[in-house]
Amino acid sequence: MSPYIPVKLQRQIRSQFKNRCAYCQTAEALIAITFEIEHTIPRSLGGSTTIENLCLACPHCNRHKASRQYFLDPETQDLVPLFHPQQQVWADHFAWSIDTTTLIGLTASGRATIAALTMNRPALKNLRKLWNRVGQHPPQD
Ligand SMILES: [Zn+2]
Repeated sequence: MSPYIPVKLQRQIRSQFKNRCAYCQTAEALIAITFEIEHTIPRSLGGSTTIENLCLACPHCNRHKASRQYFLDPETQDLVPLFHPQQQVWADHFAWSIDTTTLIGLTASGRATIAALTMNRPALKNLRKLWNRVGQHPPQD
């Protein structure tokens, strides 16, 4: 838990994101790592500790996002804004491959976010394959 974020607000964020990473959609219950409350716009850049600027992120996505706000779209090489979990809808920017192991970017921001956060790293793709076999992936809403 992040001590400077009120517990009530942390609970709201966890509930809103259904205890899944707002970026890669990994369920916290499936891995033995506590997820973190992430400031989408970092505090160091003036981001506020309000629900509009917070999301739940797995430690991997959180570390790779760090203070980044923009990244190169691998398709166009344009510098584009990263996906914003509170202002944008995940399914507008991302989709699962047919075998559900790989995230596909549907937009420039989706592609850039996948690249910046390495959301298709081999170890995670292997886990998605295993979770799929036991009916735990992809997330159902
Ligand atoms: Zn993640």
